[in-house]
Amino acid sequence: MTFDDLGLAPKLLEAIKSAGYDKPTPIQEQAIPLVLEGRDVMGLAQTGTGKTAAFGLPLIHQMLKSHEKREPKCIKALILAPTRELVNQITENLVSYVKGSHLKVNTVVGGVSINKQIQFLARGTDILVATPGRLIDLMERHAIRLDKATFLVLDEADQMLDMGFIHALRRIAPELGTPRQTMLFSATMPKQMAELSKAYLDDPVRIQVAKPGKAADKITQGVHFAQDKGDKLRLLVKYLKDSPDGLALVFGRTKHGSEKLKNDLVKYGFNAVSIHGNKSQGQRERALKAFRDGEARILVATDVAARGIDIPGVSHVYNYDMPEVAENYVHRIGRTARAGADGDAISFVAGLDVGPLREIEKLMKIEIPVLGGTRPEEEKRVQRGGRGGGGGGGRGGPQGGGRGRGGPPRGPKAHGAPGSGGGGKPGGPGGKRHRPRRKNAA
Ligand code: AMP
Repeated sequence: MTFDDLGLAPKLLEAIKSAGYDKPTPIQEQAIPLVLEGRDVMGLAQTGTGKTAAFGLPLIHQMLKSHEKREPKCIKALILAPTRELVNQITENLVSYVKGSHLKVNTVVGGVSINKQIQFLARGTDILVATPGRLIDLMERHAIRLDKATFLVLDEADQMLDMGFIHALRRIAPELGTPRQTMLFSATMPKQMAELSKAYLDDPVRIQVAKPGKAADKITQGVHFAQDKGDKLRLLVKYLKDSPDGLALVFGRTKHGSEKLKNDLVKYGFNAVSIHGNKSQGQRERALKAFRDGEARILVATDVAARGIDIPGVSHVYNYDMPEVAENYVHRIGRTARAGADGDAISFVAGLDVGPLREIEKLMKIEIPVLGGTRPEEEKRVQRGGRGGGGGGGRGGPQGGGRGRGGPPRGPKAHGAPGSGGGGKPGGPGGKRHRPRRKNAA
C-alpha cells in the first residue's frame, strides 16, 4: 500500500514526500482510512510505530477541507499528551505536515511563560497540542475556548493515567464541541483504558500493531545479573565501551540516582547528560538536543522525564534499574528500534530488580535471555504505599542457557522502512460503519 492509495490530500502527499516516508507503516495503514471515515479509533501501538502520522495525517486532511475561519481563543482540534517533550515532538511532526497550508498548530505546556501562550491562543488555533495541566490552567483563566474543537486525540493515554489524567479529562471533555471524533493511542491497555474508551469514545474501532505488552520485533532484549550498584556501574561501563557507536539511553529509578549515575559516567570519561524531575525545562531541552545531535552519546533519564522521547539514533536502552511498574519496561525499550531500525535493550538485575523482572516477564509472556552473571537473591524494596510486591517467591537458581546476542552490539541503523509489528487487524466492536460521528461523553 502507498500513501496515494489512502486518498490523502495532495498537499499532504507532498509533505509526506518531504518527510521522506516511502510507504505507510502498519498502524498508518489501519488508522488512516478509519479516521478519514470519521470513526473513533482506539489504537494499541507503541512509540516508534508512526502513530503520530497515523492520527495526524487524516486529522489534517479533514481540517484542510474545512474553510471555517479561526476564531479568537478557539481551537478546532485538541491533542493531549503526557509530557512537554512528547508535545514538542508531536508538534514538530504536525508542523511539517501542515507546511504550506492555512492551518496553524500551537502548543501549550507547563514550565514556560503562560502569558505568551495566552497571547497566541487569543489569535485562534487550528490544532492545539497540550499537556492537560497547563491546558486546564488556561481554561480557568478563560484564555481558551474548547467548544469549537471537534477532534480529540489522547496520545500515550496509559502514561497519562498515572498522572491524574482521568480527573483532567473529566474537566476538559465536557467543554469540547459536538459532534466530536476521538482517537486514543496507548502502548499498553490496562483495565482503566476500557473505562476511558467507554466514557469518551463512540463505538471505537480497535486497532493494534503489536500484541499487548509485546516489544517491537526488532529489539534484542537481554538481562545481565549484578550483585549490587557497583557491579551494575562496572557492567554498564563495559557495555558502553564494547559498543561505542550509536546513542545509549540509560534508565535510572530516582532523580538523585540518575544524576549520580550521570556524574559517575562522566568521571569514566563518557559524554553523558541527564534528564529528570530536578532539571529545569531549559536544562532538559539542552540535554535532549545534545543527545539528539549526538554531542552527548549517553542520556540518563527517569521514566517520567523520558516519556515519549523519539530519538531515531538510540541503538541501546539500558535499564540500570528495572522499572517497578512492568508496563514501563515496554515504554523504555520502545525508545530504541525506532521506525524500522534495530535496537538492544539490556537490563541489569540486582536483588531489588528480581521481583520487577518477574513481573515484566509475566506481562510480556517471555523469558528475557540471560547475558551473564549469577541470579541474585530477591530483595524487596520497603514499600511507601503504591504497588504491592507482586506476590510469590522468586524462581530459584541461576539461569543457565538462553544466551542472548553476546557479540558487539551494532551502531545506529539507518532509518529504513518502518517496522512491521505484528499482524493486528481492524476489528473492534460491532462492525458498524458509515455512521456520522457523534456524541461527547462527559
Ligand atoms: P511515532 O511513532 O509517531 O513517534 O514515529 C516514530 C518515527 O517514525 C518518527 O520519527 C516519524 O517521523 C517516523 N515515521 C512516521 N511515519 C513514517 C513512515 N511512514 N515512514 C518512515 N518513517 C515514519
